[in-house]
Amino acid sequence: MNKEQFWKQFPLGAHLCREPMPPMSELIHDMNILKSKGFNLVKLQEHWMYDEPTEGTYCFDKYHELITHAAKLEMGVYLGLTCEHAPNWLWQKHPNCRMEHKNGTKVMFQAQSTLPGDGKPGPCYDDPGAMADQLRFIKKVVSELGQHQNIVLWNTWQEIGYWAEWNSGDTVCYCPQTMAFYRRWLQSVYVDIDALNQHWRTRYMSFESVEADRGLANYAIPQQIFFRYFVENVQMANVLQQRYKAIKEADPFDRPVFAHKGYAEVGSGVDWVYARTQDFLGTSCYPAWRKAHRFDDFMQEKRLPRHEALLAEMWDELSYKMDYIRSASKNGAPVWAAEYQGGPINTDFSKGRVPKADDMRRWMLTTMGAGATAISFWVTRAEIMGPESNGFSLLDSEGDSTVRFEEAARIGNVLKAYPDIFALNNKPQAEVALLVDENNFQVVKSMSFNNAVQEYYLYNLRGWYKTLWGMGIACDFALGSYLDEAKVSRYKAIIVPFAIAMSDTVAMALVEYAKAGGKVIMEGSCGRLNECGYATRGEINPHIRQALDVKVLEHTLVREPNDECRWTQPERTWGEYADAGFIAGTGKMKGFSARANVFVETYQAPPQDTCFTWNENPAGICKDVGKGQMWLVGTLLGVSGTAYVNDDTSNAVKQMLAKIVGPGHDGQLLIQKRKGTNRQAWIITNPCKEAVTEKIIIPQGVRVADPLGGNVVQESGAITITVGPLDVRLLVLEQL
Ligand SMILES: [Zn+2]
Repeated sequence: MNKEQFWKQFPLGAHLCREPMPPMSELIHDMNILKSKGFNLVKLQEHWMYDEPTEGTYCFDKYHELITHAAKLEMGVYLGLTCEHAPNWLWQKHPNCRMEHKNGTKVMFQAQSTLPGDGKPGPCYDDPGAMADQLRFIKKVVSELGQHQNIVLWNTWQEIGYWAEWNSGDTVCYCPQTMAFYRRWLQSVYVDIDALNQHWRTRYMSFESVEADRGLANYAIPQQIFFRYFVENVQMANVLQQRYKAIKEADPFDRPVFAHKGYAEVGSGVDWVYARTQDFLGTSCYPAWRKAHRFDDFMQEKRLPRHEALLAEMWDELSYKMDYIRSASKNGAPVWAAEYQGGPINTDFSKGRVPKADDMRRWMLTTMGAGATAISFWVTRAEIMGPESNGFSLLDSEGDSTVRFEEAARIGNVLKAYPDIFALNNKPQAEVALLVDENNFQVVKSMSFNNAVQEYYLYNLRGWYKTLWGMGIACDFALGSYLDEAKVSRYKAIIVPFAIAMSDTVAMALVEYAKAGGKVIMEGSCGRLNECGYATRGEINPHIRQALDVKVLEHTLVREPNDECRWTQPERTWGEYADAGFIAGTGKMKGFSARANVFVETYQAPPQDTCFTWNENPAGICKDVGKGQMWLVGTLLGVSGTAYVNDDTSNAVKQMLAKIVGPGHDGQLLIQKRKGTNRQAWIITNPCKEAVTEKIIIPQGVRVADPLGGNVVQESGAITITVGPLDVRLLVLEQL
């Protein structure tokens, strides 16, 4: 096995071990089992602390043995680095490599074991000595273990992130070396301190005199917003880039280098940034780890209902997050499910559901429907340490098979049979994109009163995704700073959820997109603030205001139905809220209505442009702009996708998207597509509580088969299939 042979296949892998490891005999035995079930990849995780216990002394024997055995089995190896789990001598040698919290305390956590969090946050690699030792170590690992040709991939960061709020108590890193890097970065962006002062409305005399905001409460001010932007987008990206470069310099066989996220940072642009520091990006996928959102209708029940909870695993934990990572990826680059739930989640003594065969099938096929190009399970055999003990695995603590493992292997081997479809980033570009923007994200994240705005923003975005997913409308995510990319002009509609902070650059790009023929659907509060967090006069971005010929009349918080309090902030005294209700359709939207969620905004606008009203005042605008159209609806429509769900709002959204989104399948089954050169796959989901049998129109001249053995009736131009409740089926359409 070498990289050329491996990269023609669909990667089907499983994590084998990290330190502390089970005995070698068990690892060899388990690798043999993986091979016998058709797996072509094992993941090994190395740990700097174990592998260079004193400076200059390296211990790679176990990896040599495992990689050599994998080679005998004709299996590839994906080697992940754990540089956060750094040796104790490094901390002693470079005392300044300790990260600093926002509150000025030093991070005392110096990982002695891989858990918690694979050693995060680790040393601050803005310390030049620590960075130099890290890169020397990486080059040593790569040049030595890299002699094995069956290493097919390097991973530079086991779940990118610092997670310091969780693991050491506050955000990082505010150390003098990171601050110096921050000031250098500001200088590279603004060049002249006066330019920074003009943008931030400040009076710094030099870049050296700029400080980050370090107050206990986060405020949406430039000194907070741009420092967090820097740490998450520039500082961390630099660590990723340096590791990437070191591997490329040391690797005798020039194999691909990637990193993976613990989860997609939905709403943020960092995944776009990280993807561009590596050959490609991946993500962990643990569909049964997190609960759905506390605002969701079904989460109000005392005991979670099975159907809704399992459905949320599919659309929220798998589809939403994988579509996000896919959208953030470089065009055509692989998109890896780099850690995939193989067994029950376990945290100390809280054991999760043991996945059955139907869970595995539902999960894996949903992930493929969102565009993944590889699946590597976590983990082969039950974990042996910390809160994760006895969990997560395809195989139990003892025994050579489980029902979930057999199903994972069965599905995985079918995917392996079609590498031309499943190993490539080939999910067709969607017709609709949801816009996210890092500036907006940083501003809402800095608004700390009850953290309400951040929660509304993320909840509304997620609700938009669910709304589209439930309608069988595939969607991508577009990033505010990439609106000049060629593919953006191919979207028929861009939905702009809750862009409370909008820069003029993004606003102008949206207007241009509309002028060229696109449809832009915006929600209220559009550009109430700018990217620095400052209020915009008139409470709307001036370019949007001009394009729509509109003036904001009033902005009012609105109650939830039946005075429930899922998200409503407490009223200070009296009179802060409008009663719950619906905005009423008029003009283009006559006969429709939509629930007012969180707030309602009314406008002064020409009657012919008004499409919704609230108490007789315009609350929605639709205006032709150039060859296209811009909409501004004065509330958060996305929320209704998952909270106080009602047909009126979804019908209104459907109407707003009518004529843009091509006629899809008319039925209850949801279809996602992967397109190879001569054949394609359709992944068909039944989100309902009962089995559904439907006729589906197919292209001319194809033969349709279910490689997993289900029944398909094909007649001229259509097929008829039955999909069980919450099940997913895979069809392959071959051109005749
Ligand atoms: Zn630092």
